[in-house]
Amino acid sequence: MPVPFIDLTRLVSRIREDVLPAWAECLDRCEFVGGPRVTAVEKKLGAVLGAPHVVSCANGTDALLVALQAMGVRRGMKVALPNLTFWATFEAVAQLGATPVLVDVDPDDLQLSLPELRSAHDAHRFDAVMLVHLYGWTSARLAEIRAFCKERNIALVEDGAQCFGVEVNGKPVLAEADIATLSFYPAKVVGGAMDGGALTMQSKEREAFVRSICNHGRSDHYSYAHVGWNSRMGGIQAAFLLRVLDELPAILESRRAAASWYRERLSGEKGLRVYGPPTGVTENGYLNVVTLDSKRGQEVVDALKAAGIGAARTYPEPMDAQPPAREAGAIVHGDLAVSRRICERVVNLPLFYGIRDDEREAAANALVQAIR
Ligand SMILES: *Cc1c(COP(=O)(O)O)cnc(C)c1O
Repeated sequence: MPVPFIDLTRLVSRIREDVLPAWAECLDRCEFVGGPRVTAVEKKLGAVLGAPHVVSCANGTDALLVALQAMGVRRGMKVALPNLTFWATFEAVAQLGATPVLVDVDPDDLQLSLPELRSAHDAHRFDAVMLVHLYGWTSARLAEIRAFCKERNIALVEDGAQCFGVEVNGKPVLAEADIATLSFYPAKVVGGAMDGGALTMQSKEREAFVRSICNHGRSDHYSYAHVGWNSRMGGIQAAFLLRVLDELPAILESRRAAASWYRERLSGEKGLRVYGPPTGVTENGYLNVVTLDSKRGQEVVDALKAAGIGAARTYPEPMDAQPPAREAGAIVHGDLAVSRRICERVVNLPLFYGIRDDEREAAANALVQAIR
């Protein structure tokens, strides 16, 4: 039985009848950039994420750029980030002319390592940190990382593109973040009908700055307080997202069930290790994450694909292995051994809203078969 890595139609078919009239209204009112639905989606996001202030924007990468700017990151500054993340995290730092400092990840939760971050700061005195909540959970040491940054006066930006719905001790993970970013790329846990993003923050002043930066740095229609960007959301996207957010409990239930089913099914198997959230953290079921004992990550994914099972490798190479990392003058801290090893060995099985029991069974069985 073929199983896709991701099938967005399971969610879209469920909401389409409600989205169509909302889209027709957007067309009739020419609600294309900004508008009441965008305001409504920002309000709803704030309520769901426990964040006092939310500003929407055009995508998660823009959100990172704007977040760094809002935290005062400028050309020539140093910004630490995990060597294991999506390229956009690196890109935002490099686009601002800042120097990325690549830091290794923890071997158990696969998130930015606090001991490595400490020693990197002693060695390189970076000005800011990008903490990425990767794979649908977060660091076991999140509170300590936040406290470390506060103590040393290091700006902290949290990349929340993969953590929508994650909770720490029953509270939304981003509720207390100084500044955090979201992505509504369609494949994320809360996905839009096109690219989209948002930022969460704690103060009204920061909200005003971020709103201005996302809108050309405007102070008035043709007056500018900053050199900003054009990064805004429109009604078509907001209408879709509002409907998706209504389904959030069902989305999380379906994804979490599949993620923990995979973990139970695979945890006793020889030749692999399966990962999940640390104690106290509730995952959102974004990704199934397995590493092989051998370096055959790509070979196994190819075998799974040949068997009709959509599998992926998030991520096959770390930041420091990308050719532009050198051009950007990235600083490599330590041997980055954990992130490099994970990349060689990582495999992800299909996981999406609405995945059926027989589909995940077929995928897990095919993986066990492929590594024998
Ligand atoms: C998806 C993602 C982004 C970028 O979001 P876009 O909306 O695609 O620009 C940034 N960081 C991480 C960790 C992501 O997974």
